[in-house]
Amino acid sequence: MEKDITILGATGSIGRQTLDVARSLHLPVRALTGNRNVELMERLAREFSPELVAMAGEDAAKQLRERLFGTGIRVEAGEQGLLTAARLDAATVVSAIVGAAGIRPTVEAIGRGCRVALANKEVLVAAGSVVMPLAKQCGAEILPVDSEHSAIFQCLLSRGGSGVSRILLTCSGGPFFGKTRAELAHVTRQQALAHPSWSMGPKITIDSATLMNKGLECIEAAWLFDVPIKRIEVLIHRQSIVHSMVEFEDHAVIAQLGTPDMRIPIQFALTYPQRLPMQAPALDFSSGMALTFARPDTEAFGCLALCVRAFEMGGTAPAALSAAGEVAVYAFLEQRISFLEIEEICAGLLCTHRNVEEPTLEQILQADAEARSQAAQMVQTRGGMHNKNRTK
Ligand code: NAD
Ligand code: MG
Repeated sequence: MEKDITILGATGSIGRQTLDVARSLHLPVRALTGNRNVELMERLAREFSPELVAMAGEDAAKQLRERLFGTGIRVEAGEQGLLTAARLDAATVVSAIVGAAGIRPTVEAIGRGCRVALANKEVLVAAGSVVMPLAKQCGAEILPVDSEHSAIFQCLLSRGGSGVSRILLTCSGGPFFGKTRAELAHVTRQQALAHPSWSMGPKITIDSATLMNKGLECIEAAWLFDVPIKRIEVLIHRQSIVHSMVEFEDHAVIAQLGTPDMRIPIQFALTYPQRLPMQAPALDFSSGMALTFARPDTEAFGCLALCVRAFEMGGTAPAALSAAGEVAVYAFLEQRISFLEIEEICAGLLCTHRNVEEPTLEQILQADAEARSQAAQMVQTRGGMHNKNRTK
């Protein structure tokens, strides 16, 4: 039998693309999880016939249980339901829940010692200090799904005995590339959601506009590849064709290229070490393709440096920053704060964070919860001002 998969966050952008891959490779699906989208989950459950479906929303789970009555598919609810899904002994668990909600279920899967195809970057950002040693201890294989990290992973396959000199992490620059800070003060939600090259869920799309996403990715790469963050360099690459590069000690640079299609890194994480054919357009090198690289504007986009600072602080600082970032992004999406206030809230939170060094998972989740409530208060204070300014 082909190796079976469980998808945590099956109704999202990565989840649905993983199901596209599962469909084309005929992979059996063991369990699926979602949050509130009952209609979509019913459709997915009927198509893929998993043993278990879990919905984080209790009401959603109740409705889904009624809709799936008679199919033999078990429906579970809440965080316990997600953990049950992660615990089933599927060969691979795809971690594609967005945000800190993905931490516990992913840790549960890692604890089983299976393969974890990791899309959720918040898991490593917040809990890398706990997750990486746990993976080693339990024999879990963490394979990156994030396109940059999949690229770095693929470049490192050719490392031989050579040490890594630099990781060159590419970044599209997002929709606001080239804008000054003054111009960023007035950008709208619609403009921020219009990513030039990738189609993704709303949280990561906004993180790509602030460059917070790239900062989170630097932390993710530092954990995954055990490289000092100072050796990770972000390069703006507007074409989104070079997904990242590794420079070795002899200054040879290996790059991974491809179309901006997440199904490529998803499939590789599922089938590694094999490469299988893919039903997707290939790169066309004959059309005068240009590849350009430049340094990011760290003055205009401060979130990048905030992430590096949090990682250097260590302890619970990255978890707190990531949690505050989540609250701020959703507040921006609800038009309660302005674009630059996302960064201001993150910076404010990091300044006042009481860091816990060498934290346990519980302390990390505690720091996450505290940062959330602190950030929510900052949103409330700023939200009032923002609305006043908007109605002027
Ligand atoms: P999305 O918003 O499209 O989907 C998120 C999924 O998480 C959905 O299935 C949703 O039901 C589930 N979810 C949301 N809140 C939940 C909660 N509280 N409890 C349980 N489940 C919950 O997001 P996405 O774009 O697919 O991104 C998923 C993760 O992958 C993110 O961490 C993102 O940074 C990372 N990632 C995404 C892309 C991409 O191309 N979309 C690329 C690289 C990395
Ligand atoms: Mg990425």
